Amino acid sequence: MQGIWEDFLKIVNQEAGSRVVDTWFKAVSLYQWDAINRIVYLLAPNTFVKDWISGNYVELIQTHLSRLLHVKMLKVVFIDGSKKNSKHAVCEKDDIPSMVPARLDRSKNSVVKKSIARGSCYINANYNFDNFVEGPSNSLAKAAAQAITQKPGILYNPLFIYGGSGLGKTHLLHAIGNCIKKASKKTSILYQTADRFVNEFINAIRFDKIHKFQAKYQTVDVLLVDDIQFISNKDQTQEAFFHIFNTLYDSNKQIVFSSDTFPQNINGLAERLRSRLSCGLVTDIHMPSLETKVAILKTKAKLNKEELPDEIAYFIASCVESNIRELEGALIRVSAFASLTNQPISLELAKKVIKRKEEIKKTNSIDFQNIVKCVYKRYNFDIADLRSKKRNKKLSFARQVTMFLMKKLTDRSLRDIGIFLGGRDHSTVVHALRKIKKYAVSNHSFVEQLRQMEHEITRGL
Ligand code: ADP
Ligand code: MG
Repeated sequence: MQGIWEDFLKIVNQEAGSRVVDTWFKAVSLYQWDAINRIVYLLAPNTFVKDWISGNYVELIQTHLSRLLHVKMLKVVFIDGSKKNSKHAVCEKDDIPSMVPARLDRSKNSVVKKSIARGSCYINANYNFDNFVEGPSNSLAKAAAQAITQKPGILYNPLFIYGGSGLGKTHLLHAIGNCIKKASKKTSILYQTADRFVNEFINAIRFDKIHKFQAKYQTVDVLLVDDIQFISNKDQTQEAFFHIFNTLYDSNKQIVFSSDTFPQNINGLAERLRSRLSCGLVTDIHMPSLETKVAILKTKAKLNKEELPDEIAYFIASCVESNIRELEGALIRVSAFASLTNQPISLELAKKVIKRKEEIKKTNSIDFQNIVKCVYKRYNFDIADLRSKKRNKKLSFARQVTMFLMKKLTDRSLRDIGIFLGGRDHSTVVHALRKIKKYAVSNHSFVEQLRQMEHEITRGL
């Protein structure tokens, strides 16, 4: 029997992918085969896994297991391992229960609620509205963020903030959290990045903690989800998130999302989740004007108890055109140099630190889009292809080259690269870098191709 189940897993691996096998099917075992009545009993570790598989894969199970067991048709009965004396769920082709996560029992909810209320909400106290400088590029997003703190769950729900990297989305999410927390200590607020949400979900399934996982999210008053685009192409996580969203939304709990792009542009997102994301207020943040950049620099300097004369602030602001994170980085470099060499911050000093303005511009403004454009020119795959799940040979190669160039030409992390390219894991990026390096060792024309692409990307700025 064990051999049959293993053969079956291999087939599912080919048909549905290794992620489905690892996440769901490996948790299940073939408990018993009743050859007389043609019933196969599958043991699932908990209700969640049982509901998911019975809701999504019964047909696949019936098709392949009946072939492997040499019968025309069979019944599938799931045993919920978490319930003693569990009532078996019988699933036949036309009798597939829909996936509805088990409702939470009140007593368990209150335990989780208490633990969140005690403060495990991951909010960074340093990011608030007072130190978020407003300008035309972000005023709408800031106004909406402040508005929802007055009446969480009532005004704009969900609030969806999108914009490029380093433009203040995370700052605003924390500011919302801090502001609501200040107004009402009782309100439970949870900030979470979508990639941590995905990991938590996978671990919850692996360690049979799905109940705790759901309770953690479904019992908060305010849920702040950062970089939601990371959930793209993660079907099971999207499903779980969809139910959490509905529970919170139906009980007027406030939900806020941030993303690098607007909902319609997030690839690999189930349509019904996409429509949920955009059913409230969608607002964006752009790169700020010179004046706003100067104001941000002065605010940051003040927080560090430093005086930053206008002319120096203007100089630094005019050197950095990519995003505010880089702007902060430039200020930190200038002030670190001043303090290490025991000098006051002056324009000469700033110029010395930010010596070659052109060079700074170059490294700062190579962003992912430049690289994507160049890859498109060379391989004819656009951003939607690169972010898709498709894995034909040519596309996979172009995607790996993209990862390689992103790592080499920008200072973005492997995680950022993976997120940008369709919510892929950091280990996928590591694998791509290795492959490209290995390929380059034995292929001189490819090395030349890479060199030309790098040249095009940096020259095109
Ligand atoms: P994102 O989440 O959009 O990538 P972050 O919120 O992490 O960007 O912002 C990057 C840095 O820039 C943070 O240190 C943040 O405090 C700062 N920042 C961004 N926008 C502003 C702003 N309008 N005023 C002050 N600081 C800002
Ligand atoms: Mg962020």
